[in-house]
Amino acid sequence: MRLVFLGPPGAGKGTQAQRLGERLGVPRIATGDMLRQAVADGTQLGREAESYMERGDLVPDAVVTGIVGQRLAQPDVAAGFILDGYPRTLSQAHSLDAALKQSGVQLDMVVYLAVGAEEVVDRLAGRRVCGGCGATYHVRFDPPSAHGLCDSCASSLVQRPDDREATVRERLSVYQRLTSPLLDHYREQGLLQEVDGEGSLEEVYRRIELLATLPS
Ligand code: AMP
Repeated sequence: MRLVFLGPPGAGKGTQAQRLGERLGVPRIATGDMLRQAVADGTQLGREAESYMERGDLVPDAVVTGIVGQRLAQPDVAAGFILDGYPRTLSQAHSLDAALKQSGVQLDMVVYLAVGAEEVVDRLAGRRVCGGCGATYHVRFDPPSAHGLCDSCASSLVQRPDDREATVRERLSVYQRLTSPLLDHYREQGLLQEVDGEGSLEEVYRRIELLATLPS
């Protein structure tokens, strides 16, 4: 299975793609996670990406396409993958089309997780991430047992700099302008499947799992 997860920031792509990847036995490839790791490690890539990410802008296409190309060359993607957060522009989608064509493989499906703008702002502005193990919480919808501390490893919870409300609104406007045109791109290829991304994590997962595990 070769899948792409599309949707606005905060649609739940990461959580759902991780779970579906485990179910299908394929890795989730998340450019946002790769870039955040590079920033944390202080690498050249991280230094290049950091200011774009903090503002809620996209990192330049060539940089992101380069890291995805390297990742897709790893042996563990031979059986498939789920791309989460890539492609995010038409230029990235064209690069991905070309790379897959060159490898003689095709995408099976593009899952579009549809969530309204105000729901996204609510979800992201209240999101907190464990600085130790990366577990995510929400101040209202999924609070930890002890205020500000991770249930699993007791490390402090932090807010991602790009989850501040003003930056979330900027990320949404970038999504509308640059990423939403991908819906038509994949619709024209007959690959797009829209899933209602509102509701509990479990409900949304069931909707996705049904699509992704149907015999083609
Ligand atoms: P995410 O965790 O997917 O929300 O990504 C966090 C940030 O990483 C985004 O706001 C962008 O600054 C950057 N980023 C992640 N994926 C891409 C991509 N495909 N193209 C450009 N920038 C990206």
